[in-house]
Amino acid sequence: MDDLRYQTDLLKAMNRKLELDVAMYRSIVESADNTSFFYYSTVAKQCRTFGMWEKMFPFKIQDIRELDRVTELLEDKYRERAMLVFYPERRNEKHDFMECKLKGKETWITVNSYASYDELGRPSEKILKISDITKTKKQNEQLEYLAYYDTLTGLLNRNYFVSSLADYIRKAEENHDIVSVMILNISNFKTINDGFGLVGGDELLQSVGLFLKDFSSENVIVSHFNADFFCIAIYAPMGIHTPECIFQAVTERIQEPFTISNGENIHIDMVTGVAEYPEATTNVLELINDAEIAMFQAKKTKSVSISYFNQEIMTSFLEKFELENKMKAAIFANKFELYYQPQFDVKSRKIRGLEALIRWEDEDGTMIPPTYFISIAESNGSIIPIGNWVLEESIRTYTEWQKKFDIQARLAVNISVMQYQKKNFVDNLLQIMKKYDMEPTNLELEITESVLIYDFDEMIEKMKLLKDFGIHLSLDDFGTGFSSLSYIRGLPVDTIKVDKCFVDDVVTDPSARAILEAVVHMVKELGFETIVEGVEDERQFTYLREIDCDNIQGFYLAEPMDFSSVEELLLEQTAN
Ligand code: C2E
Ligand code: MG
Ligand code: MG
Repeated sequence: MDDLRYQTDLLKAMNRKLELDVAMYRSIVESADNTSFFYYSTVAKQCRTFGMWEKMFPFKIQDIRELDRVTELLEDKYRERAMLVFYPERRNEKHDFMECKLKGKETWITVNSYASYDELGRPSEKILKISDITKTKKQNEQLEYLAYYDTLTGLLNRNYFVSSLADYIRKAEENHDIVSVMILNISNFKTINDGFGLVGGDELLQSVGLFLKDFSSENVIVSHFNADFFCIAIYAPMGIHTPECIFQAVTERIQEPFTISNGENIHIDMVTGVAEYPEATTNVLELINDAEIAMFQAKKTKSVSISYFNQEIMTSFLEKFELENKMKAAIFANKFELYYQPQFDVKSRKIRGLEALIRWEDEDGTMIPPTYFISIAESNGSIIPIGNWVLEESIRTYTEWQKKFDIQARLAVNISVMQYQKKNFVDNLLQIMKKYDMEPTNLELEITESVLIYDFDEMIEKMKLLKDFGIHLSLDDFGTGFSSLSYIRGLPVDTIKVDKCFVDDVVTDPSARAILEAVVHMVKELGFETIVEGVEDERQFTYLREIDCDNIQGFYLAEPMDFSSVEELLLEQTAN
């Protein structure tokens, strides 16, 4: 009796444990998110489904043959494989796996099958674990996209471009082919961003990216590097897939503006640099670098141009690079000096102005001319600290001279376009003038017409503002830019400085005389004071006096001189 009771208790306990186990397995199965299970026993000829089955499939399965209903949901290309994975009889494998997509849907599933076999090798049980992986798949796609593509333009990003270019180069090495790399730069992008805002700028980049994307093909990859830089690599350039043809197509396209969503039209300039494997280099990063160096060369020539990398470009780049480094050190150590060149009234031969001209003495004693380094300082932005130093140093020196001498001449200071365009230019200037107690009417700013290329209205407003403060303005190098007499008519400047090129042949060439005379007279008739620059000898001077030119500046009467020479000159003038 006891024995029976013991057996019953044992059975009850085992049953209880079994129930708990079943409940535990059920909750494990059901807690597996987006996963359903199918169980089949060949011995019991029994099918069961668990987990999320009802959520995933709109039918129940009572019989193994009904598994077809699941495989029919798959895209056709997966059906054959599914036969092996889904059905117990087909394969003698314990575990099998497949990933597949449902027909006509964006749903992706994975199927893991686990089979067990009897001692004769016949399938006895099969479990299918079917998981909906759509979400993970999408996340992975997104991650992959972020890793390879630029989100703004949809073009390849820099990293992926570099690794694809490395593949091109490996292939070219084997097949003795050429690979061209083109860097394309929207050279007026900064102005566009300033004028149309960051959103407008981004939209423009998207449109340009879309246009460039059309060049992609099996042997052409297009990428967006950053901001206004795009890069194209061409494997074995040929036919329409050559840098020349692509550049030609770009040139044609940019003749028309790009229209952004608010309806505004944007005109762009584009410069291109090209470097080729293996001619330029065999290294991937160097190749991109060389194309960039060629692009900077193109920038120097025209607003829309293409330039090919060669050793000459490399040498001039390295020189510029060296100069830039030296210049940074010179700014830091204040290695600049100001010379002053007097400007003379033609009739009285009195000094009407002193133009501050910067000098930079290199460590080895060579004088680097401003014509060389000012353009480099403008291209890398160091013109701002240099220009500020010139303004402060010249104003400080001038006001010092005023205290010592009876000085009638104005101080003339050259202002670079970049400096003039700065939003705080006027405020900064006024602050310096206040610091040294500089009378505004004693200051003359020399600007060139290039300040008017961008933001014409804004630049004119700035000129008017400066004039309202009493500061004089002169237009330097007249005749070397796009100047036409009709356009200078309304300019709010006081003085026009006629460039040296008008004077050069005046003694020997009658037509040069006729032109100079016409220019001087027209400038005067338009109400401006004239200064003719670069007068080197007496005959030029006499001629200018004859045609009633107001002022001259040139080596004939005085070369640019250092601080102490100016002091001597002023002392002399005061004594007279
Ligand atoms: P610029 O403002 O037109 O200055 C006149 C230039 O012509 C000066 O050259 C001067 O030395 C030179 N010059 C004057 N008379 C004669 C002459 O009779 N014959 C010849 N052959 N040359 C003459 P420099 O000092 O080399 O300056 C060249 C240019 O560099 C200046 O042209 C100006 O555009 C720029 N520059 C000079 N100093 C500064 C500065 O402080 N700031 C800025 N932004 N530019 C400067
Ligand atoms: Mg000047
Ligand atoms: Mg000049």
